[in-house]
Amino acid sequence: MSVAAILDRAVAGRRLGVDEGLRLLECHELAALGEAADAVSRRLHPEPYRTYNIDRNINYTNVCTSGCRFCAFSRRLDDPDAYVIDRPTLFEKIRETIALGGDQILLQGGMHPGLPLEWYENLVRDIKAEFPQVNVHGFSPTEVHHLSRLSGRTVGEVLGRLRAAGLGSLPGGGAEILVDRVRREVSPRKVSADDWLDVCRQWHALGGRGSATMMFGHVETLAERIEHLDRLRRLQDETGGFTAFIGWTFQPGNTDLAGIAKVGAHGYLKMLAVSRLFLDNFANLQASWVTQGLRVGQIALRFRANDLGSMMIVENLVAADGTRFEATQRQLRRTIEQAGFQPRRRNVFYGLVE
Ligand code: SF4
Repeated sequence: MSVAAILDRAVAGRRLGVDEGLRLLECHELAALGEAADAVSRRLHPEPYRTYNIDRNINYTNVCTSGCRFCAFSRRLDDPDAYVIDRPTLFEKIRETIALGGDQILLQGGMHPGLPLEWYENLVRDIKAEFPQVNVHGFSPTEVHHLSRLSGRTVGEVLGRLRAAGLGSLPGGGAEILVDRVRREVSPRKVSADDWLDVCRQWHALGGRGSATMMFGHVETLAERIEHLDRLRRLQDETGGFTAFIGWTFQPGNTDLAGIAKVGAHGYLKMLAVSRLFLDNFANLQASWVTQGLRVGQIALRFRANDLGSMMIVENLVAADGTRFEATQRQLRRTIEQAGFQPRRRNVFYGLVE
């Protein structure tokens, strides 16, 4: 089937097959992809605005036993700059977030070998006791799976206990590419693709919601990127629990995979357009301005994300490998306006807050 015929099918609301998704990713017709993705995005989001949110990424520890080859953030337990966050530091960061208008924190860390499940429960409980209005968007499926193994408890029990402590939503970190061949190559000690998806499945079964992610542009093939999208789409059919899809490009600086060429704007925008066309059951697609910069993020809104993501106050995981883009709320809003939309602030569940 021609690229034009596949795009017509997607614009008409027909579901694309894996072969069709791959055909789009392999083609060079970026403008046509963008136009079709724009039509789909406008069908799903006819409203005149595009959204962003304000939150803070707080890394509660940088100690991690996983040793992922793409990571510039993790430290060993005995490294001089290894840390576990203390309460005064944590609370100060949350207070600053609230002062800047934020209403949630993204709480993530490494796979620490010594922190028991109770430590995580107390962490969430203490945050909610002090800041009941703040949503804790915390602990990726990778961390939950690690906690399950460390504590000897089932994934369902770990999730239930964290939810009871006050966990609000689950970030989709650690997905990278949900194909085990890729995972064995870049993060062999990390949760398998099936297990990553199963953590999300169980969280959704508890009534929880969360995001789905993809980090691309390292050792994966184009077919494996589509397989990743297909696995997310199938789980979304099953549970409907994903709030959004966020794809970002691998940042090779200071990692074991430093020789790999960075995916540029062209490759990023093509992946974004194909994701919009393929993920027909995802309401929201977020642009990754943190790794691509605000200019590309702005094009992404027309190409066809409907959300510019977060005004992140700290982004250690990205800053650690040399990529740092900071934007004030004003810049984010202007970026959206210049793309032709009204800027509106949202919460983690994509509800408008202004
Ligand atoms: S990416 Fe996450 S799991 Fe992998 S080494 Fe870094 S902190 Fe650990």
